[in-house]
Amino acid sequence: MIIEPKVRGFICTTAHPEGCAQNVREQIDFVRAQTKLKGPKNVLIIGCSTGYGLASRIAASYGANAATLGVMFEKPTSGKRTASAGWYNTAAFETFTAADGIYAKTINGDAFSNTIKEQTIATLKEDFKDGIDLVIYSLAAPKRTNSKTGITHSSVLKTTGKPHTEKNLNVMTGEINEITVEPANQEEIDDTIKVMGGEDWELWTDALLAANVLAKGALTVAYSYVGPELTYPIYREGTIGAAKKHLEATVDNLNKKLAVIAGKAFISVNKCVVTQASSAIPIVPLYVAILYKVMKTKGNHEGCIEQIYRLFAGLYNEQPLTLDDNGFIRIDDWELAENVQAEVKEIWQQIDSSNVETISDLKGYRKEFYRLFGFDLANVDYQNDIDPERTIASLSESV
Ligand code: NAD
Repeated sequence: MIIEPKVRGFICTTAHPEGCAQNVREQIDFVRAQTKLKGPKNVLIIGCSTGYGLASRIAASYGANAATLGVMFEKPTSGKRTASAGWYNTAAFETFTAADGIYAKTINGDAFSNTIKEQTIATLKEDFKDGIDLVIYSLAAPKRTNSKTGITHSSVLKTTGKPHTEKNLNVMTGEINEITVEPANQEEIDDTIKVMGGEDWELWTDALLAANVLAKGALTVAYSYVGPELTYPIYREGTIGAAKKHLEATVDNLNKKLAVIAGKAFISVNKCVVTQASSAIPIVPLYVAILYKVMKTKGNHEGCIEQIYRLFAGLYNEQPLTLDDNGFIRIDDWELAENVQAEVKEIWQQIDSSNVETISDLKGYRKEFYRLFGFDLANVDYQNDIDPERTIASLSESV
């Protein structure tokens, strides 16, 4: 079949296997062109198939030759539907790593569930005899069924306290209109914390410690976001921000627990980039389009792979990392630099539907968005009639 993008709101319902493979290849090429990393060796990535988790997997495998076990929640092809982008990314990633002699296995299922935690631990016991020395927690999920209570919690992207009215961009049409985001009630705030807060990160850490599959000195890193004051009402002070604060507060507990293996937990506050997760947040895409314009002009723009390589170079190659007063790693430092934010603010005040194409990087945003689903990549013939079916080697092995 000929696969074309079908965009519905902030999601594309189709994905292109060859484009996704090209996207993975480009990230691998980027990492290969950098200085080799002195670690990690054995990595578990929870949320490994797209965005920051995929970049973490690629940086570990191709920067340090690390063996990786990835956990994801993705869909294979079914009937006329293509597989999800994360499925195609992972199929391509495993094809590349197999050809390059790098160990990679993937588990597809709900990372919040006990079943998937148990399956992951069984694979770690079998294949990672030296233990895991890095755990990346990079989930972005709309809901979570609590494995203890059986209750399903859904996250919402709302303000807390009062409604907030702000400019909002329709990325596809380029129209900017005001949007009013309503405040969440307490139950919605609590539910969002259940999904995107630190409880499940702690459950994973408990399970890995109890199973004795962490190596001495293992690190666990979860990704967070802060952003500028401009987006505080919808992000930092919104429901998702409440969840992120909970995730950040979990670090102290984890550090106490990890002390038995001389391990350490970190929060890495990453830059805002175009991913499936960030596209869904109101107001944020307009901020990203402006931010990209400013940072590209300054020559310090980064995507997921550049951010994660910089993080790993800090963790393993003694490259300087910015830490804040809480001890969190701030690879969002260039995003939040005063001169960047001053320009973003100025553009924000001027921007409307008539000038969005010129004073923001809307074109770059759209391109990035399509690339997430394997479209708009160079060296891919989109007129080709292709079979959408792709197998993920390690998944078909275990069937
Ligand atoms: P993403 O949507 O690209 O990736 C989410 C990953 O989680 C995918 O691999 C998906 O398969 C997996 N996943 C979702 N639900 C799952 C489930 N139930 N079980 C197993 N796997 C599941 O997201 P992203 O933007 O890369 O975000 C990853 C993390 O980085 C999040 O914590 C996010 O808040 C944080 N972050 C993102 C940004 C940004 O701008 N995108 C900035 C800073 C921090």
